Amino acid sequence: MEPRILMLDTEFMHPKAWRGFSAEVGLVYCMCSKWYGKKKVIIHRVDDYGINFFKAEKYMLKEMKETLEQADIWVSWYGIKCDIPQINTRLMHHGLGILPNIKHIDLWKTCKYKLALGSNSMKNVSEWLGFAERKTPLKLQEWYLALHGNKKAMNSIVRHCIADIRVLEEGYERLLPLVSPRVSLNAITGDKDACPKCGVRGKLQKRGWNYAQVMRTRRFQCTNCGSWLTGKRERVLPVGSLTT
Ligand SMILES: [Zn+2]
Repeated sequence: MEPRILMLDTEFMHPKAWRGFSAEVGLVYCMCSKWYGKKKVIIHRVDDYGINFFKAEKYMLKEMKETLEQADIWVSWYGIKCDIPQINTRLMHHGLGILPNIKHIDLWKTCKYKLALGSNSMKNVSEWLGFAERKTPLKLQEWYLALHGNKKAMNSIVRHCIADIRVLEEGYERLLPLVSPRVSLNAITGDKDACPKCGVRGKLQKRGWNYAQVMRTRRFQCTNCGSWLTGKRERVLPVGSLTT
């Protein structure tokens, strides 16, 4: 079974445009998502569901939920603290339940805890690493204009979201060696010889050992994604050996 890794990004009422209010009254404008490795970007935009955004949001969220539920793993940038709580708040607001507890790789978290950057924003990291994909600018007033039926402003918000998804996917590939997934792709595919991070076979090379007091574990590196991995533990000293 092929792992279903979903890149996701939502655009919702900009906090600066809606100062003082939170998701109880906020509004999701759109969600773009993309199955990792596939070309198509799946777009859910609120204006496709009606001209009254606050009513249309309910129908959009219902379909968004169905897309999100199909994933084995979600990948986002700041989605653990932002996108998923926002979506759950709006789902509950409309009486649509909540999302399942799907494994979530948040690349903002990866940067925060594995690197030492001045800013862990997608913009900063993508510029620092020189990604091929670039974020698009968005004017604050476009949030107001879109809400009042301005199609051009809404298109601009959706374009911004699509660009973010492409940057996110590139970020996933570039940052994968640093990601600490709580799920191995091999557990999904059933392939015990592939790289558990990127799922590619035949790329694992033995590169030394990690030692403990009486045990050691084989160290591997994947030459496809660059991840360092550890193999099975084996005992190197007999039971009862002196240890520190
Ligand atoms: Zn790999």
